[in-house]
Amino acid sequence: MPDKLGFDEWRAMLRSAITLVRRNQEWLGQLDSHGGDGDHGATMTRAMGQVEKAIEAAPAGDAKQLLADVGWGIMGVDGGATGPLFGSLFRGLADEVAPDGVQDAATMAAALEAGLQAVRKLTRAQVGDKTMIDALVPAVAAARAAADRGADLSTALEAVAAAAQAGAESTKTLAARFGRAKNLGERSAGEQDPGATSLSLLFRGFAEGVK
Ligand code: ADP
Ligand code: MG
Repeated sequence: MPDKLGFDEWRAMLRSAITLVRRNQEWLGQLDSHGGDGDHGATMTRAMGQVEKAIEAAPAGDAKQLLADVGWGIMGVDGGATGPLFGSLFRGLADEVAPDGVQDAATMAAALEAGLQAVRKLTRAQVGDKTMIDALVPAVAAARAAADRGADLSTALEAVAAAAQAGAESTKTLAARFGRAKNLGERSAGEQDPGATSLSLLFRGFAEGVK
């Protein structure tokens, strides 16, 4: 278990997230077919291609630059809501992460809080509206709670992943109030939100990537 998340650790975390999202591409598309247009698996896979590109091009040793490049790469993915929302999350993270990375759970919490703030600039969706916010908000809160109880980084990342997953699963019974799925109204209930699911896969990938 690393005692900090430097460039090498972030690269491993991102690679692990890429693998997990790719493995679930079909499921993400199915979830989006329930309430949306079915493209979310394909869009996230394109986003992961951009993450891979950023990793390959990144100057070694600079975790901040790596995360910023990942954010810009994802921002540029066309196809609706995902590029701006997920790209901004990474750009927000990059704002708070130092070039030599994240040293403790408190810094990790601050970085995730900055990521959430960046996403909030793009959407007024709140918890309960059946969007990626339903996974992101509890994940950020779990990071802060872990930091407050003095948890180490890998314990904090595990808590983040678990909270994001629970948040994503909580959207199953909800009706969408934002995004394309909003058009379906109550009929959008029954499956979990694709964007929340992707977010939980990313954070699960991060937790696995440091093991
Ligand atoms: P699109 O809806 O443009 O086809 P995707 O299918 O890639 O984009 O992503 C859909 C996901 O994006 C949703 O499941 C939801 O989590 C998220 N999303 C869409 N619109 C919004 C919004 N206004 N606020 C927050 N999240 C949103
Ligand atoms: Mg879609």
